[in-house]
Amino acid sequence: MSSCNKGWNKKVFLLLTGWFLALTAFAADVRIGAASVKITPPVGTPMAGYYYERGVDKIHDDLFAKALVIEKDGSKVAIVTCDLIGISDQIVAGVRNLIQKSLGIDADHIMISATHAHTGPVIPGFKMRYNPTGKSAEILDSYISKLPGLIAKSITEANNALQPAQISFGLGHEESISFNRRFFMTDGTVGWNPGKLNPKIIKPAGPIDPDVAVLYSETLTGKPISTYVNFALHLDNVGGTEISADLPFTLSNILGKFKGEGMVTTFSQGCSGNINHLNVKNKDPQKGHGEAQRIGTVLAGEVIKTYTRLSPLNINAIRVKRQIVKLPLPEVSPDDVPAAREITARFGKQDAAPFFDFVKAFKTIEVFERQGKPIDAEIQVFALSDSFAVVSLPAEVFTELGMYIKSRSPYANTMIVELANGSVGYIADRKAYVEGSYEPWSSRVAPGSGEILVEKALEMLNALKTKDLTTK
Ligand SMILES: [Zn+2]
Repeated sequence: MSSCNKGWNKKVFLLLTGWFLALTAFAADVRIGAASVKITPPVGTPMAGYYYERGVDKIHDDLFAKALVIEKDGSKVAIVTCDLIGISDQIVAGVRNLIQKSLGIDADHIMISATHAHTGPVIPGFKMRYNPTGKSAEILDSYISKLPGLIAKSITEANNALQPAQISFGLGHEESISFNRRFFMTDGTVGWNPGKLNPKIIKPAGPIDPDVAVLYSETLTGKPISTYVNFALHLDNVGGTEISADLPFTLSNILGKFKGEGMVTTFSQGCSGNINHLNVKNKDPQKGHGEAQRIGTVLAGEVIKTYTRLSPLNINAIRVKRQIVKLPLPEVSPDDVPAAREITARFGKQDAAPFFDFVKAFKTIEVFERQGKPIDAEIQVFALSDSFAVVSLPAEVFTELGMYIKSRSPYANTMIVELANGSVGYIADRKAYVEGSYEPWSSRVAPGSGEILVEKALEMLNALKTKDLTTK
C-alpha cells in the first residue's frame, strides 16, 4: 500500500469517527420511550358508535392506550392514542392531573387522542345518546372510573422506558382505502353514504387526504421503539358486538412482525369527518373483521414502503402551545324543541325513527340546552423540529380543513390528529353547511367554526416557527 493511500485511509477514518461521534452526541440528548396498556372493557359494557343500543358480548382483540414520550434537554412531550370512539375532556383532565403529580409533565405537553374505533365502549361526554341503567350502567361506570389511571399508566411506562434514540419522519401516499362519503347527486342534493352503485351519484363532493404520516423511532443501535401512523379514515370497518380496535389491530400485528414485537405501533386519526371506507363503485359488502384486516394490511404495506423514505428529525428543542377556542353555536328554534324531545324519547332501538330525524333532534336539544353558551375547543401544537409539527383538534374534522392547515403550515411536514383532548362532534367546512346532509346537520357548532380552528391552528404554528427562527 502506498504512503499516499495510507494517509487517505487515515483521513477517511478520522472523518468517519468524527461523523459517528457527532451523530451520537446529537442523538444522545434525545430520549424516547413507548408503551401500551390494555384498556379493554368487560363483556356487558355498552358499546359506542351507532344510533341504537348494543352491548359487548365478546372480545375479538384488545383495546390499548399507546404512549410515546419524547424528551430533549429535560423537556418532554407525551403523545397518547386510545382505541376508543372519542375521549372526553374529563378523562383528559384526569390523566393530565395524574401525570402532573407523578412525573411533573404539565398539561401543555400531553396530547391524548382517540382512534374513533366504533367497536369499543361508550364514552360518557362523547355523543352520549342514551343513559344505560342497571347492570350495564354499573359496568360502564366502573370501567370509565379506571380509564384515566390506565391511560396515565401508558405515559408512566413510556417515560420509564426513555432511552437515547433517534426519530425520523416519512410521508406515504395511499388512496385505495379511504373515500369521501358525501356525493353530488343527480337530484341536486348532497348524499351521505348514498349506497353502493347508486345510479344517482354524480361524483364525490370533496377530496380524500392520501397522506400516510409515519413517525418512527429507534434506539441508537437500531432497535425499533415505536411506529406512529397518522391517516384520515373513519374507523367503522367492523360493526357488531365484539370488541375490536378495528384496523389498528392488523396494522400493529403486521408492523410488529416486520420490525419486532417489542415495537409499539400506534394508529392516530387524521381529519376524517367526511371520510370512510365505503367504495360506492364496488358492490361487495364492506363490514366485519375481514374488511378491517384487508384495510389494515393495505395501510401496513404503505407504512413498510415509507420506512425506506424516512428522514431523521433534528430535534433541537421541543416547543408546545395550547389554546382553548370558543366556537359559536348554530341557530336552533325553541319551537322545534318539543318535537325533538318526542323523537329522542323513542331512542334506543334500531330504526325507531328515521336516522336524520334522530340526528337533528339530538342536535336541537343539546344546542338549545346550552342557552347560547359557546363550545370550548382545545387546540394543541407540538413542534418537534424546524421541519415537523403535530397539531391536535378536538373533533371529527372535515378533511379539507386538515389538508388546508397542512398546506399552509410553516413546517414542511405537519401531522394533524383529530379527536384529541376532548370532542365537540363534527366540524364541517362552510360549504358543507350550504350543501346540507349528515355532518353539518349533526354539528353542534355554527358555520365558520371549522375555519376558526384552521385560522387559530395556523396562528399557533406560525408563533412556534417564529420562536424557532429567533432562537437559532
Ligand atoms: Zn363515527
